Amino acid sequence: MNRKIIHIDMDAFFASVEQRNNPELKGKPVAVGGSGERSVVAAASYEARKFGVRSALPGVTAKRLCPELIFVKPNFPEYGRISHQIREIFYSYTDLVEPLSFDEAYLDVSSHEKYAVKIAKEIKEKIFKETELTASAGVSYNKFLAKMASDVKKPNGLFVILPEHASEFIGQLKIEKFHGIGEKTAQRLKELGVFNGTDLLNFEEKFLIQHFGKAGKHFYHIARGIDEREVKPNQELKSIGAENTFSVDLSTEDEMLNELLDMAEKVMERSNKKGKKGKTLTLKIKYHDFEVRTRSLTMKEDIDNVDMIVKLTKQLLMNPELPYKPVRLLGITISNFNFSERPERYSSQMKLF
Ligand SMILES: [Mg+2]
Repeated sequence: MNRKIIHIDMDAFFASVEQRNNPELKGKPVAVGGSGERSVVAAASYEARKFGVRSALPGVTAKRLCPELIFVKPNFPEYGRISHQIREIFYSYTDLVEPLSFDEAYLDVSSHEKYAVKIAKEIKEKIFKETELTASAGVSYNKFLAKMASDVKKPNGLFVILPEHASEFIGQLKIEKFHGIGEKTAQRLKELGVFNGTDLLNFEEKFLIQHFGKAGKHFYHIARGIDEREVKPNQELKSIGAENTFSVDLSTEDEMLNELLDMAEKVMERSNKKGKKGKTLTLKIKYHDFEVRTRSLTMKEDIDNVDMIVKLTKQLLMNPELPYKPVRLLGITISNFNFSERPERYSSQMKLF
């Protein structure tokens, strides 16, 4: 079967977030990280990259390369929040999402009726609309090629590698660019006379395994455009949920219930899609000051319709009291999938209040 794999990679993610959040940084060379002796650059804006500033470079070296460089402290809660936002977009197309980091993921959209290129385009547009950030996408029939493709037209790019163009693409690809071939391995391959994909074809599988172990087998196959690795959602499913961070904090009951109603529908839809029924409902509340509270209820029977989710969510929202501070995020989760019996309703988290 021909698979449809998409690799999405946000462009200069941390640096772009900082530029988005602070307009004074727009168009300027920015490095996320410290400028001190021991600190390293975590991410560099495209303006900084022109000077050779790269992630993992010591801050002092970066400053030497680009004296105008502006250092910004990383804001990981913010990156995590946006990462969540983009994953929600991915999940609206497929459950087969394998995140590689905050800003990168593989998606398997083989069973989606739309063309993969169309989906990739839509995802890029949605990401931009929701976050004002750009992403690059690669589309192909396996993970390796999708990953390689997303790099071709960066930033804000989209590139497709069709099966009939794969060997040409791989042939010209520099060996140090191969995903999965690190700096040291690339060096060793060069010593063997391998500078690009075409050169790699000269070696038998046996020889590559002798020299590089299990990875050698992988090298042999990717040189031929073969990569059977599946897109693996990275955790086993223990809960199904939806959450939303609001651009303006919520403070009234109506506002909150309104949002929760949408979420309840989303959660039910996902639960149906996965064929999973749970007995525990959890409401997550994050206040404007980032304090997080969860409230949960466990039922004897499965939570299997929207009305029930709404009813329980209302109960959790009002008890022990309506959130008393402005709310930044709300989330609903269903869990406890394989529990057969629970004697009574309970709420462990509420005891905290
Ligand atoms: Mg990236």
